[in-house]
Order: sequence, then C-alpha cells, then structure tokens
Amino acid sequence: MRGPEAIEYEIAAVDPHAHLFEVTLTIARPDPAGQELALPAWIPGSYLVREFARNIVRIEASSDGKPLALTKLDKHSWRLAPCEGPASVRYRVYAWDLSVRGAHLDATHGFFNGTSVFLRVLGQEHEACAVRIAAPAGEFGRDWRVATTLPADGAPRWGFGRYRAADYDELIDHPVEMGRFTTASFEAGGATHDIAVTGRHDADLERLCRDLARICETQIALFEPGSRRAPVDRYLFLVMAVGDGYGGLEHRSSTALICRRNDLPYAGMEGVPDGYRGFLGLASHEYFHTWHVKRIKPAVFADYELGGENYTRLLWIFEGFTSYYDDLALPRSGVLDEAGYLKELAKTISSVMRGPGRFEQSVAESSFDAWIKYYRQDENAPNAIVSYYAKGALVALSLDLTIRARSRGRHSLDDVMRLAWRRYGRDFYARPPGSRQGLPEDGFPELLAEATGLRLDAEIRDWAEGTTDLPLQQLFEPFGLELKFEGADHAGARLAAKLRPRDGSLEFAQIVNGGPAHAAGLAAGDTLVAIDGLRVADENALKALLERRSNGATLKMHAFRRDELFETTLTLAPARPSEARLAVSKRESAAQRKLRAAWLQVSADGASRVPADEASRVATEARVPAESAPTSESPR
Ligand SMILES: [Zn+2]
Repeated sequence: MRGPEAIEYEIAAVDPHAHLFEVTLTIARPDPAGQELALPAWIPGSYLVREFARNIVRIEASSDGKPLALTKLDKHSWRLAPCEGPASVRYRVYAWDLSVRGAHLDATHGFFNGTSVFLRVLGQEHEACAVRIAAPAGEFGRDWRVATTLPADGAPRWGFGRYRAADYDELIDHPVEMGRFTTASFEAGGATHDIAVTGRHDADLERLCRDLARICETQIALFEPGSRRAPVDRYLFLVMAVGDGYGGLEHRSSTALICRRNDLPYAGMEGVPDGYRGFLGLASHEYFHTWHVKRIKPAVFADYELGGENYTRLLWIFEGFTSYYDDLALPRSGVLDEAGYLKELAKTISSVMRGPGRFEQSVAESSFDAWIKYYRQDENAPNAIVSYYAKGALVALSLDLTIRARSRGRHSLDDVMRLAWRRYGRDFYARPPGSRQGLPEDGFPELLAEATGLRLDAEIRDWAEGTTDLPLQQLFEPFGLELKFEGADHAGARLAAKLRPRDGSLEFAQIVNGGPAHAAGLAAGDTLVAIDGLRVADENALKALLERRSNGATLKMHAFRRDELFETTLTLAPARPSEARLAVSKRESAAQRKLRAAWLQVSADGASRVPADEASRVATEARVPAESAPTSESPR
C-alpha cells in the first residue's frame, strides 16, 4: 500500500434494492481554472455510444468541507468551480444492466466496468489512481468477495480493499465482480488463470479448467512459439451464468462473459455438446483479444477518444481474425476434432451466405459504420449489412489458405499475427501513453507481405473492400476440402423470410430482398392470417402447407399490416442455396491431406496431436450458488 494518489476513488454498494453504487472521487490538484470531469460515452470493445452518464442520479462536490458548485457542460461532462483543492465529488450510479458492458447491483451480487462508474479527470488521465472497493455495510454483502485483475494495493486476494491503476486507461480496463462466486484456476504459459463463476450453476469446473487450459496454451504458442509465455502474469475469466444470454467483452488481462448456465459442462458430460462448444468459442475469442485488439490495435485505438465514436475500417481484422482464430484453436488444442471444426466453419459460411446485405456493404464499411449499423441492427439488417465478425473470419480463412497454398506450407496467417505482435503488441503498455502505436488504416497489406513474402494487395482489396463472394470453393481445393451449398430446411426459407410466433399467429420478422415474400409485398411486422383460405397459426402449420405446394405454385395470402387486412399472391421459389456443407474430399491426395493437417495442427488422420489426458493443474473451491436474472447479448 502506498500513499494517497493524485486521484482517489472509493466505490461502495450502498443500496442493492435501488441498485445504487456510490462513488467518491478525490482530486488532490484540481485545475485551478475549474476542473472538468466526464464519464465515457462508450466502453472500448463494444462499438456503440451508450451514454453511461445517464445513470448518474445524484452528484455533488465539496472542497475543504464546503460545498463546491458543479456545472453541467454537456450530457456527460461537468466543471467544478475553481478551488485550491483537494476537491471531492460524490455521486450515485444506477446499476441495473446485467450485461458485460455496464454495471449491475442487487442483493445477490454486483458487477461494474469502470466506464460506468469512474468519472475521468480531464487533463489528468495519465495520473496514477487508487480505488478503494468498500465492503457493503449491510447484511446482504456479509460473505461477498471481489474478483478483478485491478492490481491490489493492500487488498487481499479476492478481497475488498485498496487497488490501483497506472492511469485512467488501465482503471477502466479491469471489470470488477463482487458477490458469492465460485472460483477455480489453472496454469498456462507460466501464468495463473482464474475463473470466477457468478449465478446459480452446477458446472464441472475441473472439465472447464482442463479445456480452457488447452485453448489458452494453443493461443500462447501461436504468438510466442519460442518462450510459450502468456502475455500477462494473471488472467481472469469472469463468468455470469444466467438462464439465457451470450456475450463477452475483452480486457487487457481479463474478460467478462455471460452465458446460459446449461452451456457450462456438467459432471459426467461426454463429448462437446453445441452449447458448451459455443461457450468455449466465446472464451477462446475473448482470450485471443488479449493479444489482438488489447495490445495489437488499430492506430486510432492506441489512445481512445472516450467522448464519442472512434472510427476504423479495420474491425474485420480485429474482430474478424479473432473470430477465425477462436474456433481454429479448438481443433488445434484437441478440444474438438477435425469433423467438428469443419461443421463450425460451415456454420460461419452459411451465416454470411444467408444475407443479401453482403452485396451492399463490405467488411471495411461494416467496420466503419459499426456504431450505427452492426450494433444497431433492425429488421432490415440482413438486406443492408454484413457482419465484420463472420465475413471477417472468412477473409482471414481465405488469406490463411492462400498464404499456405502459395508458399507450399512454409508461411501462414500465423506469421502475420506474430509479426503484428512483435511490432505493435508485445511492448504496447510498456510504452508511455502518447507514444503507443497501432496498425495504420492502410498498413495491413505491407504487414502481410513482410511476414510472408507474398503480395496479396489485390486479394485484400477485393475481399475487405469489395462485395463479391469469396472464392472459398477454389481456396479449399488444395486442402482436400469440398464445399457445397443447399437450401435451408425450414418453412421461412421458401418464402425468403423470417417468421416468429406472436399472440397465436405468425409474424414476419424479416423479409429477404429478392425473395418470394418481398415480391409479394409483405413487410416486417405483418401478421400472417391465412394461406389459400386456411389459418396458419404456427410454424408447423406453415411447413405442412408448404410441403404440399411445389415451386412455381401461387399462394393466396391474407395478412394484417397494423390493423388493416390485405390480400396478396405469393409465388413459391426454391430456397436459396445458402447452407454450407464442408467435407473432406473422397479423392484427396497425400499432399492435400498434409497441407490440411498442418493448418489445423492435427495428425494426418484427422485426430488431434494433443494427448487426450494432457494434465493441467486445477484447483476448485466449493460451489456457492447465487441468483441472477436472465439477459441477452450478441456481439462479442
Ligand atoms: Zn471480439
């Protein structure tokens, strides 16, 4: 523990039933002309202006025991009246957002990101600061503990007390969980990896540790094949187990994850069920971000502008490549076999091929407009936007396969990641703020050329800036893989629409442009009443009816738009061939098999190289269930 810092925060869970944290900020040397304060408008990693300051419900300032005037400057900024200091600002924050991006408090647990609760002292962002996380005074928090990677400054392990941060950027990059959580830990790359699970659950934490350890080791080996050292001394997976929810947010040495409790592994579970595979993919994704986006960054993220949007055309590299490597780590680590991985890859391909928005927007444009499009999707999203996650992952795949095939297996996208790590990432936080560098907006083709000796400028331009489909079938060929497409097997696919049940009827949720529902003039929000004079109450009724009609047949449809009934005619057409099937070619050669085995890091017979019983040190504490409310989340 050290002496007082220039900036000190104290945060306390003062009223769990009103969901209020109280924060006291003490500034030793406020700007004598009037210190300005602001809360960030967004949280790094989640590209949407969220205006966290709207949750501040009371704020007051004082100096030398006397009240100090506080002027509101704009929606998230204040100015203190001039004073000699120190000045103290006390405020309450409403915390009722059980997501990985905000703050939450009730009598079962609390969670916060610094972006939701810590006012920024403008002009002093580079000063070190201290945070005292106070134990709740009430009965509800009697047996609570604290999970965070904020460096302790006197606080005991898992305890309330004093923590510190080198600057504001670090302060807001370590989310904090408080409550009665379950913990487990494992070693990987010479670093302790802790898991803290909040919410009621019956997870087999030994299995979870074993699988996560393999995934972490695989990613460490990708970036540091020589030393095999993790990029941090301690890493923390904060897991909120809920009834329904999925999402994660990356931080420099931790991640906050939200998942369905039934997606966590259970005692005696065999294989890798889909839900658990999804959870491992999410954990793998956020862990990969420890290198890629938390240390290797777009140049414009080297020093975040927290007051508003930060534009980059490169999220397809930072989120897309991460999405490629999150799943690739599963076969490489032996957690999933080759067939399981090919199934996952086919799902990613299908998700891109389903949306005609891929012809309207490139992944570079999708990156730039993330703030108003990807993060604010409406019913027209499939027609207007492409995911820089999913298509970005396929661009990474396309580049990786191209580099491997053209260099005859000597180089890969892994080399590009390693060069980016050495150039921008490894020393990122060791450099003083202001001299930290990231990948320039136009720097990727050069980086790839330097790492691999190949010029793929034209491919990068076509695939990242263009809107034509990627030549995947052709790119898979040297790897002995065959890609085919089929029409989807659900009723909505033949109408080219997404339907959902609503009040005992079916409602159109999305209409795909260019399909039969679009041609018939149906719109999102319309309620389907009847087809050919017969009521269609649910998906089963629709499926049964469509099975008896061939393509080219016309259907007389009745629907409501708001409260007005209308009639239209719909002509059935074959479902678009959007569903990918990816399989090993029956006629594959030894050379193809070898190239594929090197890519997936499996033995040439498709089995994992990692022995199934690879041991990792696992410690599990007794489980303490806690309550949580359901939530939902999508980008990660
Ligand atoms: Zn991500």
